Amino acid sequence: MTDALHILKVALDVPLDRVFDYRTDKPNTQIGQYVVVPFGARKMIGVVVGISDTTAIESKKLKSIIRLDPEVIFDEQSFKLFQFCSQYYHYPLGQTILSAVPSRLKKLNTKAMAKKYLYRLTPKAIELGVDSLPPRQTILKRIVMALIDATLLDESSLRSISSTWKKSIETLYELGWIEKEEVTLDDKAYRQVPIPSLNDEQQKAFDEISKTNKTFAAWLLHGITGSGKTEVYIRLIEEALKKEDAQVLVLVPEINLTPQLESRFRSRFEKYTLVTLHSHLTDNERLTHWRLAKEGAAKIVIGTRLSVFTPMPHLSLIIIDEEHDASFKQQEGLRYHARDVAIFRAKSENIPIVMGTATPSLETWFNATRTKDTKKFGFLKLTSRAVKDSSLPEIKCIDVAKSTVSKGFSPYLIEAIRDRLHKKEQSLIFINRRGFAPVLLCSSCQWTGRCNRCSSRLVVHLNQKRLRCHHCGHDEKMPLQCPSCGNTDLYPTGLGTQRIEETLKEFFPEARILRVDRDSTKTKEALNDLFLKMKNREIDILIGTQMLSKGHDFPYLSLVGVIDTDQALYSPDFRASERLFSQLMQVSGRAGRANIKGEVYIQTAFPNHPIFEALKTHDYENFANELLKERELAELSPFAFLVLLKAEAHQLTHVMQFLNEAMTKAQNLSTQVTVYNPVRPIMERLKGMERAQLVLQANSRVALQKLLDGWVSYLRENKLGQRVKWVVDVDPLEF
Ligand code: ADP
Ligand code: ZN
Ligand code: ZN
Repeated sequence: MTDALHILKVALDVPLDRVFDYRTDKPNTQIGQYVVVPFGARKMIGVVVGISDTTAIESKKLKSIIRLDPEVIFDEQSFKLFQFCSQYYHYPLGQTILSAVPSRLKKLNTKAMAKKYLYRLTPKAIELGVDSLPPRQTILKRIVMALIDATLLDESSLRSISSTWKKSIETLYELGWIEKEEVTLDDKAYRQVPIPSLNDEQQKAFDEISKTNKTFAAWLLHGITGSGKTEVYIRLIEEALKKEDAQVLVLVPEINLTPQLESRFRSRFEKYTLVTLHSHLTDNERLTHWRLAKEGAAKIVIGTRLSVFTPMPHLSLIIIDEEHDASFKQQEGLRYHARDVAIFRAKSENIPIVMGTATPSLETWFNATRTKDTKKFGFLKLTSRAVKDSSLPEIKCIDVAKSTVSKGFSPYLIEAIRDRLHKKEQSLIFINRRGFAPVLLCSSCQWTGRCNRCSSRLVVHLNQKRLRCHHCGHDEKMPLQCPSCGNTDLYPTGLGTQRIEETLKEFFPEARILRVDRDSTKTKEALNDLFLKMKNREIDILIGTQMLSKGHDFPYLSLVGVIDTDQALYSPDFRASERLFSQLMQVSGRAGRANIKGEVYIQTAFPNHPIFEALKTHDYENFANELLKERELAELSPFAFLVLLKAEAHQLTHVMQFLNEAMTKAQNLSTQVTVYNPVRPIMERLKGMERAQLVLQANSRVALQKLLDGWVSYLRENKLGQRVKWVVDVDPLEF
């Protein structure tokens, strides 16, 4: 009698839509365990997705696994999720699964982890106060301030304050200012915060949602900034955690996961283990947190998009904050939308999901408000600010056609800023990042600096006297004369954040101005630094892009100036006005959150445009309903479902041939799906690659998915596919 073969079906991180067979001599292997296997000349880690006693592979060629790790890293629910994602987004199962494995596991070794500590101020420190610290020790001060705010901070929060936090912590330790404690699961003491009683609308939202807490239901919680959505989430979480073992997942946009938010949750959930999952954790931290969730020990997981895949055996509620935020969509690899995956997960685990936002995506708005029997989401509103005496800012448009704009600023806006400076309040000048970078222009022949590898203009960085491509990173010295005609009169045109800063310095030499953009806040430390400075009133005028528009509180900010947003009104992207509205609404929400009345000035050539009319009256509903009508006429999302095939290669002819073949194939596969001609995107060339794309559109998701099944396998087998890099993006957000 021969022994039965133990064959493991292993999912690997390779771009092939299949699993691989390996032999093992361990009969007790379980699905979800991870293994190290030989793959060609390499070793790879993989996950066991099936066990069998047969294989189609000849026994000579069948290889054995190298190592089996005892840890089961995914449960059955997780597999359902992976299978759904792999099918829906047409991405190989192995790559789907491996994108959700913490990278620490992927490094083929998992040594014991260092101890973790939490830090807090000593009573002595609290008594002495920040002002008694030695002068000019800004990092020390920031750490102390953050500790005053949060009571307890862990290493990742400290690191986000400064990369040199360790040194500062040592100094504070020597001064007797702080104490540390080892992280354990249930010994936490955060400052007690006053718990507000819910207002009527909050109570209604809570009651309605709680009624469904045993089964699947999707809810839109539509509430203006500051209306108390987070308070409702907290109550719902409290309610959910009353059930023994229950776990809750809270998804937030990356930029919103600040120590402030974390500490707000911690202080309200002292009894429970709470972990965060986001890209600023070290691999070790991430793995520890992920394991706590997987073992059921972490009752609350707050994380960014990837955490939607975290195995949680007793998941009972999912919350998505800022549901509309584009950062929930992953733009590479597995191109999933965490909101949609979360909805699938909630359905599959039969639990409620709550999506909160001030400006729902039109897709969600549609699902929550359409009246037909096809309405998918429950709909709840919070219509006023939760804190007494805090009101919405007044929004005014400044007609730039009727005003003498000097270097981007109308006199009204300048006066408004001056007024704030007198009152010792803060102003924020907001610019839309897209397309507002200054380019170098020749006054005689109209030459502009262009990138050789991308179809983009080079951006002027005046301080460093350099020209840079913001797409591929190409960097060159600013020329002193025009490369085309030799003229020496070259000048930057277009409003960049740097030029706005220069201009404001001329107007207000005495003001403390801080410019925030991609360049100046690459790290989370820098961003956190900024929040503390604002809170500490070390800044009078803040200049920034959309990264500032999200949910942060600036208590002394009372003026927002929006300059030059008009370009978004002509954008070819059908989502541009939806985004602009949501951005302006969010950024307006920054003004006047405490007891100071806020004002927003929007400079525009179209002061009567419906988008501004809606903003002035804070009327998202009307605006969204108008947009829905337009989308319906144009047969766009949410009335139609779209798929984008993007392709690139060194030679345009290859790209076009590939796309033309793909188009013909798609046309043959289905009559229910509209197949558009290949076109070049706005960015025709990127990093030396020629690009083109085509769009599929259908009224039926089922018909579209059916076509994709055959089409994607066809594309994978297409010979040209070896020369052409291509990706399929299901429900694309950007074109
Ligand atoms: P959102 O999440 O909608 O922006 P938050 O939940 O953060 O709103 O609430 C904004 C502010 O109002 C917070 O400072 C919060 O503590 C406070 N708040 C929330 N609900 C109430 C309430 N019912 N009564 C008093 N203050 C409240
Ligand atoms: Zn010239
Ligand atoms: Zn470039």
